[in-house]
Amino acid sequence: MPADIIGNSNMRAKRSAKMLVATAILAIAGFSAICANVLLEMRRGDEALARQTSANLASTIDADIGRNLELYDLSLRAVADGMQTPEINQMSKAVRQLILFDRAATAKHFGAIEVFNANGDLTVDSASLDIRSKNVADQDYFKAHRDNPETGLIIGKPTLHQGAYAIVLSRRISSSDGSFTGVAVGSIRFSYFHNLFDRLTLGPDDSMTVIRRDGVVIMRNPFDLDVIGKDFSQGRVVGRVLSEEKGSFIGSGAVDATERLYVWQDNKQPLITVVGRSLKNIYGRWEHEATKIVALLAALAMLIATVTMFLAREMSRRAAAEEKLAMLAVTDGLTGLKNRRYFDDAIEREWQRSLRQRTPLALLMIDADNFKAYNDLFGHQAGDQVLVAIASSISDSVRRAADCGARYGGEEFAMLLPGMTAADAENFAERIRIQVEGLPSKGATITVSIGVASVIPVGVLSVADFIGAADAALYEAKAMGRNRTRLANLSSKLLLVA
Ligand code: GH3
Ligand code: MG
Ligand code: MG
Repeated sequence: MPADIIGNSNMRAKRSAKMLVATAILAIAGFSAICANVLLEMRRGDEALARQTSANLASTIDADIGRNLELYDLSLRAVADGMQTPEINQMSKAVRQLILFDRAATAKHFGAIEVFNANGDLTVDSASLDIRSKNVADQDYFKAHRDNPETGLIIGKPTLHQGAYAIVLSRRISSSDGSFTGVAVGSIRFSYFHNLFDRLTLGPDDSMTVIRRDGVVIMRNPFDLDVIGKDFSQGRVVGRVLSEEKGSFIGSGAVDATERLYVWQDNKQPLITVVGRSLKNIYGRWEHEATKIVALLAALAMLIATVTMFLAREMSRRAAAEEKLAMLAVTDGLTGLKNRRYFDDAIEREWQRSLRQRTPLALLMIDADNFKAYNDLFGHQAGDQVLVAIASSISDSVRRAADCGARYGGEEFAMLLPGMTAADAENFAERIRIQVEGLPSKGATITVSIGVASVIPVGVLSVADFIGAADAALYEAKAMGRNRTRLANLSSKLLLVA
């Protein structure tokens, strides 16, 4: 196999190995990109679902609180309106009680409704016909109703009221001319919120907060007395809730450092519900799945990388082995020069090339003189060493890549010198001859005879003619006494065939 073909197959093997590695990298990158995309979609889906369920929850709680507030407020209004009627005070306490209070005020989580006069003294109590002495003139809601006729329903901060934590609700009672005649006061107990929240299943770290429209926290789950009644209007979460009618916000609130998705549906309600879903809960399942998928992908990538590296290494190892085999197939075992098989191919190739390019091609046939005698005298092994030394002289003289020195057979060598004219080839041969003559040896001087031929190939000449001419020149050199160079006269041959 010629050297350039060997090189080509090696290059092909290297290219294949590179392509294999590139394909593996691309496949891994592609897989990773697809997985990352799917995982991100899953994550977005989980977040969207959490947002939606939280929004539904917030709406449901808003509706429940709103309906109960409205119901209770209707009772307070009925009391305030009833107290405007002048006849009300002429009635017996029992009848008055029946007219003023409907059954709503006796519902489970609602406190008794009390009526206070313009001085703040208790005058009517839905829970009892016996009126205790109680005065609320110093209460903020009393002052607010007294000083401003436009004040509607006032929802108080959570306080201890009638023996339990509750939020106090109050309405102004006005006379027919609009002057202040007192307040109707009721309450919604905390048990209502506890009951409401207990019915919902919240995850650990989730939160549920009910805030007043001014940012005061009315109720929070998990329950925390330190937070209840405090103004959080400047806090990050409550601030956002108060500024946007409905929306959501991811971050940590003022109460604890837990990151949550906060969702609220209507900040126009008197009491606003904010549902907080812990991000850990939202993404928990996703994180678990993602870890599993990433681990699997990493393992797969490792496997592909390992197999690819193994195959790539195997490919180049095989290519190297093939290259070595191919080299061996065209190399002479003793001298390391190219062998006869390679030379026959090379001379055919170079002949055709020179024929196309109309450039000269030179051939040296080099034969050791009286080699049989040398062998007989010093032994075959010493003869072999001489052949190796002559081969070194030949390969040392090679200057150009296309030059080719080969062992032609036995103690005969050949050299192919593309582009070299006859005169140059003769000089070249002389240099080799002189170098061989100077080789150190045992007793007998080693010499070679060289037949030289150089021609610009033409169609009428064959490779065999060319080799024959060089061979003939070699025989002439031998005949003329050996250790000399002889140039073939190809022009006569050309004339002959022409
Ligand atoms: P001439 O000058 O005419 O070429 O004489 P010669 O003795 O060299 O030529 P001949 O063809 O009679 O003998 C060639 C000898 O070369 C015969 C053989 O023993 C020897 N020879 C051929 N190949 C090898 C080899 O590989 N190793 C050794 N040591 N000797 C070889
Ligand atoms: Mg010989
Ligand atoms: Mg010979």
